[in-house]
Amino acid sequence: MERFDVVIIGAGAAGMFCAAQAGQAGCRVLLIDNGKKPGRKILMSGGGRCNFTNLYIDPAAYLSRNPHFCKSALARYGQWDFIGLVDRYGIAWHEKTLGQLFCDDSAQQIVDMLVAECEKGGVTMRLRSEVLSVGRDDDGFALALNGASVGAKKLVIASGGLSMPGLGASPFGYKIAEQFGLKVLPTRAGLVPFTLHKPLLEALQALAGVSVPAVITAADGTRFRENLLFTHRGLSGPAVLQISSYWQPGEFVSINLLPDSDLAAFLNEQRGAHPNQSLKNTLAMQLPKRLVERLQQLGQIPDVSLKQLNPREQQALVATLTEWRVQPNGTEGYRTAEVTLGGVDTDELSSRTMEARRVPGLYFIGEVMDVTGWLGGYNFQWAWSSAWACAQDLAES
Ligand code: FAD
Repeated sequence: MERFDVVIIGAGAAGMFCAAQAGQAGCRVLLIDNGKKPGRKILMSGGGRCNFTNLYIDPAAYLSRNPHFCKSALARYGQWDFIGLVDRYGIAWHEKTLGQLFCDDSAQQIVDMLVAECEKGGVTMRLRSEVLSVGRDDDGFALALNGASVGAKKLVIASGGLSMPGLGASPFGYKIAEQFGLKVLPTRAGLVPFTLHKPLLEALQALAGVSVPAVITAADGTRFRENLLFTHRGLSGPAVLQISSYWQPGEFVSINLLPDSDLAAFLNEQRGAHPNQSLKNTLAMQLPKRLVERLQQLGQIPDVSLKQLNPREQQALVATLTEWRVQPNGTEGYRTAEVTLGGVDTDELSSRTMEARRVPGLYFIGEVMDVTGWLGGYNFQWAWSSAWACAQDLAES
């Protein structure tokens, strides 16, 4: 049986970064993945340009049953550390919006950088490898792979969540946690579009492709101000993806389609200046014309001139456009979700090293655990930070 200091399962963002760091610190590392190439999600991310971190990384941007868990790793290896690495590789980047950093050129550059870092650390990478079983032996762990058996002093699970099964996602990490008696919190899709109940969907389907800046508020008061996109299946866009992580089935979300305007004041002002102007044309000064026309067809916007709009109708209109209450039917699920909420309970892990408290030598990093970031580079930063914290411990032991 071939033996390694460290076996890491999952050659995604966290697994590759951890392998590189541990290898460069002198560990003999084997990195295993079931796919035919490493970093498949990185390649897909950020529309092919990988939103690799965010300028404003903050523990408050992470969901976890223990909101304090992520603090230590994020503080010890933060966005500027990763930006420094990207800069050393001469990868050009830009801020798109809200601190989100993207490669100017291609996500492939991030994968190439991680592969180069792994090579620098002498990491052995085995792709298209299935882990058939994991057990304990006197020196640590024994793994049966398709075609080989390997041993490891330390085992790192970096197999990610359930999102996008087409990209290799599997419940492997949760099964290993359970095999070793660790608690796994229920999982659900996050950063995912909403589907709508049939009547509302049919009413709004004609708006597919229309995008508006909006503020969306969840039942717990969490709110995001980003764009909302109407789609053939329901609602999407960054505002919806963000709030989906805070939404529970059955709950309503409240949508303000005019976050930058005092609608009542605007209508009063326009009425004074142009009393015969149609309400529809007035609203089209603030909202996409297609949206206004559709809402009028649906009876949400009266077909009147400004002087005909009575105060009661105006009040109802303002409520419709600024406090639109929507009860999603559900989400599009793991098929299109960017992340998986829940996972290995952080209470089982050390926030300094990511090692299982009750199973020495077993570590969990990245998305497999119950730490999920907002849209905008936060999830990759968690992969880098948790991987780095783990690698420091691997190097010390
Ligand atoms: P992953 O990157 O998912 O890696 C896990 C690896 O483990 C995979 O390679 C998988 O093949 C392998 N694996 C799984 N099971 C097994 C098994 N049984 N045996 C062997 N190998 C296995 N986050 C951002 O911060 N910015 C973005 O721009 C962004 N864009 C995204 C776009 C899309 C379409 C998606 C789906 C996600 C995006 N995310 C983004 C989220 C981000 O990709 C993940 O949070 C991040 O990849 C998690 O890293 P990880 O290493 O924990 O898991």
